[in-house]
Amino acid sequence: MLASARALCASPSRPFLSAPRSASSRATLARRRRAPLLSFAAGARARLARVMASTGEEAIQSVVDRRRRARVAVIGAGAAGLAAARELTREGHDAVVFEQGAELGGVWVYDADVEDDLTGADANREKRVHSSVYKNLRTNLPREVMGFGSFPFTRAFTDDNRRFCGHEEVRAYLDAYADHHDIRKRVRLRTRVVAVTPTRSESPKSENASPRTSPKDEDEDERAYVEKWGPRWCVATEPVETTRKEEGKTKEDGEESVFDAVVVCNGHYSEPRVPRFPGAETWPGTQMHSHNYREPEGRAFSFRGKRVVVLGAAASGEDLSREIASVAAEVTLASRGFAPPKDASSGDFPLDSYPRNMRRAPGIAALLPETSGVAFEDGSARHDVDVVLYATGYRVTFPFFASFDGEEEASNSLSEASASDSASLAPRSVDNRVAPLFEHVFPPASGPSLSFIGLPWKVVPFPQFEAQARWVARALSGAAALPGRAEMASRAAAAEAADRGAGVADRHAHRMGNAQFAYNDRLLAYCGEPSGFPKWREAMYAATGVRKRAFPTSYRDGPDEPWSDEDALAEARAEAAALELERSSSA
Ligand code: FAD
Repeated sequence: MLASARALCASPSRPFLSAPRSASSRATLARRRRAPLLSFAAGARARLARVMASTGEEAIQSVVDRRRRARVAVIGAGAAGLAAARELTREGHDAVVFEQGAELGGVWVYDADVEDDLTGADANREKRVHSSVYKNLRTNLPREVMGFGSFPFTRAFTDDNRRFCGHEEVRAYLDAYADHHDIRKRVRLRTRVVAVTPTRSESPKSENASPRTSPKDEDEDERAYVEKWGPRWCVATEPVETTRKEEGKTKEDGEESVFDAVVVCNGHYSEPRVPRFPGAETWPGTQMHSHNYREPEGRAFSFRGKRVVVLGAAASGEDLSREIASVAAEVTLASRGFAPPKDASSGDFPLDSYPRNMRRAPGIAALLPETSGVAFEDGSARHDVDVVLYATGYRVTFPFFASFDGEEEASNSLSEASASDSASLAPRSVDNRVAPLFEHVFPPASGPSLSFIGLPWKVVPFPQFEAQARWVARALSGAAALPGRAEMASRAAAAEAADRGAGVADRHAHRMGNAQFAYNDRLLAYCGEPSGFPKWREAMYAATGVRKRAFPTSYRDGPDEPWSDEDALAEARAEAAALELERSSSA
């Protein structure tokens, strides 16, 4: 399927060369490729006339007008893709957002359906569900800090006005964000991007090029263009089959078009990362990944009366194991990270915060098929276990890049991958380190025409998406110049070397935690906004972390204890009021 769609695009092994195609498809593609270039040149002449005539306000507007307008493909209409669409259009670019789903909102579009392969371990599984959100999920951050800066999330968009709201409220907020910024019309739903390939435009003439420009000059123009902006990209899409007959397009209806830039916002919580344990293949119980967990007692699966081991004690593992314990016979929450508690009633996630039928254990060492058991790393074991639930995170994947195919199997280390693919214009993801990347966003070889939004984790995502997207939009317009390619490559390599020196595993390369705030401020500084993020965000995030670790079962509802972020909350609401977007507030 992918191969056939890729064949439509320029050959990935021959970047910048047009692929052979039929005369009619060549003509169609040539028309598509020329269109943006012609309109750019005509637009530039008109702008020049305005610049010469303008004064005062008009002069400021003319500076904005002089910026380059690019035709940009955005992959995905989750929160990151919506932020990209907003910032790109605000900067004057022409953005098209391709979304494989039937709705916008990404993971926040709850889907009661689950995949046939409950572990999701098979990378080639036929049935895929994008969202990993479960039925009773409530946010693990207060709405105010989650929200985009340009559209505060201080008020409610459904009848759920809790600070830590349910997933439907977040989805409604994202819908409202799209409407507020008028970006829904940019989104092409049910359209999956299947291949993204660097390509050479047919007519890369500069605006001032004379009609008699020679092929040699054209080559030089093209090289200069690519050096400055990065390559153009051929984006191949295919319609996603729908159950409705009248919309029943087939994969043969796939399209391809050339864009000046591609912004990758495909999300990173859909491809389960499943550890392989001895004994797993013949283990008689049920193994599933949290990606396919929906509710403790539901249509797809019931945990009632079962003996369950949950592996992984990050946000999902902690929440799911407590929810499952409400109907299960017993739940063991296993994690390599658990240190033996000295004092069971204090510290992070205190033991007395767990239900009576729950216990903690070290990481899993093996599954024991003979006893339907689970052996732990400290030598202890649990037998007659019915379910092992892996809350072990996700794999970062970009299946639409040719260089991506089978890379995790083909290469065990990043350096190996880099060495074999040094000329690649798209970065690679090895053990969830996407590299090389400058500041987690731009590949040094192909930025700004290729960029990634949403790779960092353990962050407050939406406002960071907004800052990354603004930087991308401004880099593409020329308003925010990137360092030279060599400089970006050396800074990306230095960051990677620093990680290695500090013993940071590749899979943690994009984990930020408290480092996110300095990073966010850097992003805004690159955009020419040196004042950075308002400080209430950091204060609210920090207060939430403390509350969550101390009161894991009640931190969302408070206030048994004071919320301890009252000042930050007041500032958040004042900021929203100043934007005149605060109609009602919740507490
Ligand atoms: P997604 O929301 O995954 O969107 C990606 C989009 O790209 C999807 O719509 C997908 O269909 C589309 N797509 C993918 N590939 C293609 C393709 N080839 N062609 C076309 N379209 C494509 N964040 C918080 O701030 N607070 C929380 O409380 C919180 N809780 C979470 C709980 C869970 C269980 C999970 C999984 C995540 C949670 N997050 C939370 C993080 C959440 O992922 C981010 O908030 C954010 O929504 C991610 O947005 P995204 O756009 O990067 O990815």
